[in-house]
Amino acid sequence: MSAVLQLSGIVKAYGDNRALDGVDLSLPDDSYISLLGPSGSGKTTLLRVIAGFEHPESGTIRFNGKIVNAMPPYERGIGFVFQNFALFPHLSVEENITFGLVNRKINPVADSQAVKSRVRDMIELVGLTGLEDRAVTQISGGQKQRVALARTLVTEPKMVLLDEPLGALDANLRARMRSELRIIRERCGVTFLHVTGSETEALAMGDTVLVLDAKKIAQQGDADTIYNRPGSPAVARFLNCYNLFSGKVDGNVFASSAGPLPIVGFAQPSAKPGYAIRYDRISIRPAGVAVAEDEVRIEGTFVASEYTGAAINAFFSLDDGKVFEVESHLSQSSAETYEPHGRYSLVWKKGDALVYA
Ligand code: ADP
Ligand code: MG
Repeated sequence: MSAVLQLSGIVKAYGDNRALDGVDLSLPDDSYISLLGPSGSGKTTLLRVIAGFEHPESGTIRFNGKIVNAMPPYERGIGFVFQNFALFPHLSVEENITFGLVNRKINPVADSQAVKSRVRDMIELVGLTGLEDRAVTQISGGQKQRVALARTLVTEPKMVLLDEPLGALDANLRARMRSELRIIRERCGVTFLHVTGSETEALAMGDTVLVLDAKKIAQQGDADTIYNRPGSPAVARFLNCYNLFSGKVDGNVFASSAGPLPIVGFAQPSAKPGYAIRYDRISIRPAGVAVAEDEVRIEGTFVASEYTGAAINAFFSLDDGKVFEVESHLSQSSAETYEPHGRYSLVWKKGDALVYA
């Protein structure tokens, strides 16, 4: 697959503060890319630099093989779907979608029949048929999102940037729009770069997932690799499904604040050491239980549990005060109840832990 977008060494500062500090990435053509980063990590800034609304202090932006640093936004052929939709409130659904096509600086479409037919196709593609004449103030959040998307797609961009596109929607609609966005992208055949602060959204949607940390791309890979093999303790933390310990490797153990954790095999090189064990790789057993040679055991005090439909998440307090989470899938075991303030053994396989040194 050829790369549609390549960034190298992108630095963007606001005054003395660097929002991006050496971003390198290469995005394949015709795919769904998600970019995960917490609030304030520079996601919007990165999209604005790619679109050309902001100029980086240094680094190059290569789009379809050409350096576009000096090219104004409207010549780049990159679509932008804004976080707050940015629709014109006094225009109808159809007028909002038509606007961008008729009023753009490059190749405005003047033939009114051609405009009508392209807008109609787009309304159908995003599922707004029947709502053409409705004012955008009188449609739902999900429908506004579709208008924003249609308005961008109608101009036939070669790539689309979406800034937290599902952030304003309620949970039900968000889940439905996830799969619709993927379907719409497949029909258009262009790369979508979707930024989000939600790890579940990033993992569910991206053919490729990028993680932004410390103003750089910390990891790029398929969802499976990111989820199972986060490249650093920081990436593991963003995924919200790992218990993390700080400390350091000392011979055959990881010396953590919760005590020594025996390790096997290979520690991944990382700027910061750490030890991570996934919530769903842990079993809960009676306090003081004996464990096998290939297992690790720590003890904790039961605090609370929480049902999430298919799973139950139990929270324990470790002796260093840290909260430790265990996720049990209800398809694999029946729901257990735990003694409030009871002591339990928390056990996992040495080989299931990720060790960073
Ligand atoms: P995100 O979209 O991931 O929440 P942003 O890209 O909006 O993050 O912001 C990254 C950093 O840059 C933040 O520290 C933010 O305060 C700063 N920043 C963003 N835009 C501006 C601006 N126009 N002027 C000054 N600082 C800004
Ligand atoms: Mg943002």
